[in-house]
Amino acid sequence: MRLRHIPGAEQMIEESPFVIQDARERKGRWQESLGAKAPLQIEIGMGKGRFILEQARKNPDLMFLGIERYSTVLLKALRKRGEEEAPNLFYLCEDARKLGEIFGPGEVGRIYLNFSDPWPKKRNAGRRLTSPVYLGIYEQFLTADGTVEFKTDNRDLFEYSLESIGQAGWRILASTFDLYASDLAAGNVMTEYEMKFAAEGKPICKLIAARREPEEGDFSAEKADRENGAHIL
Ligand code: SAM
Repeated sequence: MRLRHIPGAEQMIEESPFVIQDARERKGRWQESLGAKAPLQIEIGMGKGRFILEQARKNPDLMFLGIERYSTVLLKALRKRGEEEAPNLFYLCEDARKLGEIFGPGEVGRIYLNFSDPWPKKRNAGRRLTSPVYLGIYEQFLTADGTVEFKTDNRDLFEYSLESIGQAGWRILASTFDLYASDLAAGNVMTEYEMKFAAEGKPICKLIAARREPEEGDFSAEKADRENGAHIL
């Protein structure tokens, strides 16, 4: 995504009631602090935010958090949202690499990764949001039955992701190289990038993955919850 500096972007974001400013202070109490009925659903790298806005509208009982590292891009999502009623949608300007500092064990029930940057050079593989580096970060806060849903037009990235997710011990629950010709298309919400690629006739790949079963001795979300005496949903 090409980035142009937008004067005042930081200030507009800092002043928006929809952008979370004190994310680290909410670690361990996200659900309570937002009045959510279940662990959060987050999109990492939401871009201009069409997908997460639609998801929030369609699922008023769930709480959504759109995460984007660039303030200039986040501002576009904020403008798209406008003043519309979406009390179950908030935003965070943060790099995915830092999310382990922000969410505690079991605080996120679903992670959406849509058209993530492919980082095609091998030496940059660790920057891909489906690399073992990031899967390790997601394990720190995804619920035991939590899932990652990933869509891309990039077949190389998709094949890499299938492999990296399997190697990390996660389970692929469903996958397709042609979303619109598959059962996974039911209820699909398009992102801005997806609309462009779909209009060009490009096939869209999608997978749904579940985190690995915790192993004996693992520091897992459930174990942490038990130690804290918390109720496990
Ligand atoms: N998901 C949107 C869509 O499908 O239309 C945007 C896709 S765009 C190719 C990828 C977005 O992810 C960009 O806005 C980029 O800034 C953001 N991004 C990439 N790496 C990120 C990271 N480590 N943390 C947060 N956002 C990231």
